[in-house]
Amino acid sequence: MVDDFILRHARIAGRGNDPFDIAISNGIIAEIAPHIASDLRSEDAVGCLVLPGFVDSHIHLDKSCILDRCRIEQGTLQEAISQVAAAKRDFTEEDVYARASRTLEKAIPQGTTAMRTHVEVDARIGLTSFNAVRKLKDDYAWAIDLELCVFPQEGLINDPGTEEALVAACEQGADLIGGCPYADNDRTQHIDRIFTLARCYDIDIDFHLDFDLDPSWTDMKEVCRQADAHRYGGRVAIGHVTKLSAMPRGEFEIWARRLADAGVAVTVLPSTDLFLTGRGHDHDIPRGVTHAHRLSAHGVTCSLATNNVLNPFTPFGDCSLIRIANLYANVAQLGDAPALCSCFDMVTRGPASLMNLSHYGIEIGNPADLVLLDCTEAASAVAEIVQPLSGYKRGHRSFTRARPLLHRP
Ligand SMILES: [Zn+2]
Repeated sequence: MVDDFILRHARIAGRGNDPFDIAISNGIIAEIAPHIASDLRSEDAVGCLVLPGFVDSHIHLDKSCILDRCRIEQGTLQEAISQVAAAKRDFTEEDVYARASRTLEKAIPQGTTAMRTHVEVDARIGLTSFNAVRKLKDDYAWAIDLELCVFPQEGLINDPGTEEALVAACEQGADLIGGCPYADNDRTQHIDRIFTLARCYDIDIDFHLDFDLDPSWTDMKEVCRQADAHRYGGRVAIGHVTKLSAMPRGEFEIWARRLADAGVAVTVLPSTDLFLTGRGHDHDIPRGVTHAHRLSAHGVTCSLATNNVLNPFTPFGDCSLIRIANLYANVAQLGDAPALCSCFDMVTRGPASLMNLSHYGIEIGNPADLVLLDCTEAASAVAEIVQPLSGYKRGHRSFTRARPLLHRP
């Protein structure tokens, strides 16, 4: 049972600088007003910024925290895939559950209230990781909404038995399906099979796509064509698309308009993209981070996300999306308040829209998913990597974090 209360003096992202009171009843936002007269228990936000939580639209819980089982010598995408493929042979449901829950328990106090996790499914791992992460979805529903995207990281057409495993996961309730065409020789057929399966189960699609710096070819063309052909606009996302960072401005803009027209959303994964790309260069190393804010300006739904945590794809990770927004702003050379606000949007409203979350936002009638940040505006949250102080999921307090205390002599 969730008790009713009033969160007082909270600044709401996107509603100007004046604080509001927010009444929570039965886990739902019942009223928002400058002052609410009520005898209900109050919590004082003391002017802090409140948001509906960060949304991580692309993370891999199943292969997080395996650095101690892998080596990183070249730091390339190919090495990361093969290292994880080898480690994956020893994954058990208990092992995946233990590592993934450790990662989730880092994300929750960072203020993340919704997450799309990609889960590897293939002929060897079968549904082992899927079953573990599905259990997490139920066990952590008190703090976070988890969405499971099953996908073939090691290829589909090249990897007999993998499609059957994907079908089994879809039959057992996978929320959506992903693809990884660069892992196959026949990328077009890979994309085609994923659209066919998605249509069969009426689920959305999230591809890993164009994860290199060669601008001479792209799989965006086929993904946009299929999105149009299947009327799947608004239901397809593509992640990485580092290739766009290697295109001249004119060509980039042609693709930005094409993605916007087709309703294909983009997730940029700054930490992984910086770590894995440009490895062939010994100086003037390209950043490989696609300019999501420029895509956004053309009407593409964009998000910035975590991707990997403590594995050969990304040997870092505190699961903080505000840190990822700051990292992106730094790499994309964004510094003024409107630009920093656009980075904030790409870890909040952008991914909520990409994931088609229908009840996201501090609005009357929405679930009381509320995260308090120790600042008064979104731009400074990004600039200063401001820490969340507390969070609520459907009106139930899900975490608190103490402010640092200085001990003056
Ligand atoms: Zn990924």
